[in-house]
Amino acid sequence: MTQKSSMTQVSATTAAGSGAAQAGETLRSGVVIEARDLRKSYGFAEKAVRVLAGVNLRVEAGEMIAVTGPSGSGKSTLLHLLAALDTPTSGTVYFDSKRIDSFRDAELADYRNRSIGFVWQRHHLLADFTAAENVAMPLLMRSAGYEPALREARGWLEEVGLGPKAENRAGELSGGEQQRVAIARALIQQPALLLADEPTGDLDEGNAIAIFELMQRLHRSHRLTSILATHNTVLAGRADRILRLEHGVLLAEAEKSSPAGPARGETS
Ligand code: ADP
Repeated sequence: MTQKSSMTQVSATTAAGSGAAQAGETLRSGVVIEARDLRKSYGFAEKAVRVLAGVNLRVEAGEMIAVTGPSGSGKSTLLHLLAALDTPTSGTVYFDSKRIDSFRDAELADYRNRSIGFVWQRHHLLADFTAAENVAMPLLMRSAGYEPALREARGWLEEVGLGPKAENRAGELSGGEQQRVAIARALIQQPALLLADEPTGDLDEGNAIAIFELMQRLHRSHRLTSILATHNTVLAGRADRILRLEHGVLLAEAEKSSPAGPARGETS
């Protein structure tokens, strides 16, 4: 998966390639998110550290993309820019064909909170709340009724294999279980785009594989569009498309066939 010879600089990339696409099913079509010439430096003047040096990315509905690269290569930075959690030094992110830097406050909040589901390396759960309350939190923050939100949350916990632990306090759960709760929390609002930043980074190998497979399964069954940042090239190899951050730009690995059929070719 790491061979450089199979990589090419990405200007704009498209691929269906998702295992989500079953014959006869309706898949949201079109580009979900696009980044054009995204640059990010931290600090100023001679102390500036350039992290992203012109990233171009185009992700179509239904794709599962892995962004790889060693620690410090800018994976988190890129995901934060896509999620509008930080602003680029220059360049533009388009979501659903709209520039996110043109969003007004309410639209931006809606984008961050509802359009994007974010899974962090560390789950950031509220330890004293139950698993179900943690999953329901995005709905409760929107003033949804407590019982309906909790019902919805319990359904998602069933999906991630934690139904029996819905009423356990998050702090009592194992690392792998906590990450399942975090995934359910990210999905409860059925986001248009799931971003996961090293979601298996804190887990042992067995749990890492289980969590990755869970995300793959959810990606397919809910026909998600997903971008996963990981330095684990073995897990990344299971995605539809692998992009590698190197020297601040994205390099595309040769595409793989997906279980649903061959992926479409690159259109650089
Ligand atoms: P990765 O996710 O691939 O490990 P990051 O995006 O976290 O990489 O970091 C890329 C580089 O940017 C690192 O050198 C890191 O120290 C630097 N960096 C990240 N965030 C900040 C920040 N807020 N201020 C200064 N430097 C930062």
